[in-house]
Amino acid sequence: MFKYLLCKLKKKIYPDPESEKAIMGSVVYCIHHKEGCQWSDELRKLKAHLNTCKYDAILCAAQCGAMIPRVLMQDHLRYTCPRRRAHCDHCGKEFSGSALEEHQGNCGHEPVYCENKCGAKVQRRHTQQHMQQHCSKRLVACRHCAQRYTQDTLSAHGATCARAPVPCPQRCAAAPMPRDELDSHLREHCAAAGMACAFRDAGCRFKGTRQALDRHVEESCQQHLALVSALATRQARALDALRSAVARLSVNCSGALVWRITDWAAKMADAKCKDGVELVSPAFYTSQYGYKLQASLFLNGNGAGEASHISVYIKILPGEYDALLRWPFAHTVSFTLFDQSSSPDRACNIVESFVPDPTWKNFQRPSKEPDALGFGFPRFVSHEMLKKRNFVKDDVMFLRVKVDPSKIVAV
Ligand SMILES: [Zn+2]
Ligand SMILES: [Zn+2]
Ligand SMILES: [Zn+2]
Ligand SMILES: [Zn+2]
Ligand SMILES: [Zn+2]
Ligand SMILES: [Zn+2]
Ligand SMILES: [Zn+2]
Repeated sequence: MFKYLLCKLKKKIYPDPESEKAIMGSVVYCIHHKEGCQWSDELRKLKAHLNTCKYDAILCAAQCGAMIPRVLMQDHLRYTCPRRRAHCDHCGKEFSGSALEEHQGNCGHEPVYCENKCGAKVQRRHTQQHMQQHCSKRLVACRHCAQRYTQDTLSAHGATCARAPVPCPQRCAAAPMPRDELDSHLREHCAAAGMACAFRDAGCRFKGTRQALDRHVEESCQQHLALVSALATRQARALDALRSAVARLSVNCSGALVWRITDWAAKMADAKCKDGVELVSPAFYTSQYGYKLQASLFLNGNGAGEASHISVYIKILPGEYDALLRWPFAHTVSFTLFDQSSSPDRACNIVESFVPDPTWKNFQRPSKEPDALGFGFPRFVSHEMLKKRNFVKDDVMFLRVKVDPSKIVAV
């Protein structure tokens, strides 16, 4: 390029040899000044400088055809010249530069990550073998159930595989069997399964094979009998505890009791032929933590009503909350005998009530032994009256005892 320019200069602009001499003597910079060459001298010396200027481009020393500045030649020859000789880092083979570029990314010796994402790095030429034989993420069929699992989960599966063979836990002579057949083996076939004695619930701890068990049952009659007897005792105690718990739970705390007296005719007959036959109602409370009461009934009368009336009384029983209650007991008590007429509109109930007399000792806090008789009405309803209406129907009589809650003193 420069030579060509120089020719032009000679021919067209500086034909005069003297002038040319002068020009050739003028001081210039190297044409590669901008690239960094610091050379500066007479123009005539430029040509010679360019022969050594390290910024001047010359043909690639390996004859790839490229023009390369001297300063970059080494790099070019080593890294970019298509005709350079280079070794693959992985397989060590020597290639020309262009061939190496093609080789890279295909070299069989280059370690690459497994496509199954198992995390392993293997040489490219071994990836197929790795994925088929060694990869922890390859699918493998369970040899017992034939389901496919990745290799790294197969052993966990084996611990639960329904078809994997397991030995009998009772160590009988049977060969290992598929896990899902173990239950039926133990239930039906196992010769060593420890069967529990039939008296296990009574406390017998014996376990053994069928034969041993038969022998045990024959030999242990006395022992089994003792166990069963002890069990019966324990159960009776438990039953008592339950009964009292149920009684506690079902106790009436509403302050009103509807007492249903069944087998009325038989009870009346009994009362007439014996003296002082008293029927007592279930106990009930005036409220959850209130007074404990019980009604009593003499079908053939008592005291002033004997043989002519039915008599009713209320008794105060020792209750669990007596210590917290006001004494004497001062609530109104009413007794109602229901007329069980088929048309309720025409029913005519009999009601009697009283307000307790605070001076009367029956209304004081009761001792552990309550009074035989409570407070009430010896002449509640006459036997004559009883026959007039449906006070007794289907051999049943209903008597309500009600305590007026408005008079309850809160504690
Ligand atoms: Zn230069
Ligand atoms: Zn080159
Ligand atoms: Zn290679
Ligand atoms: Zn893998
Ligand atoms: Zn399996
Ligand atoms: Zn077995
Ligand atoms: Zn036993």
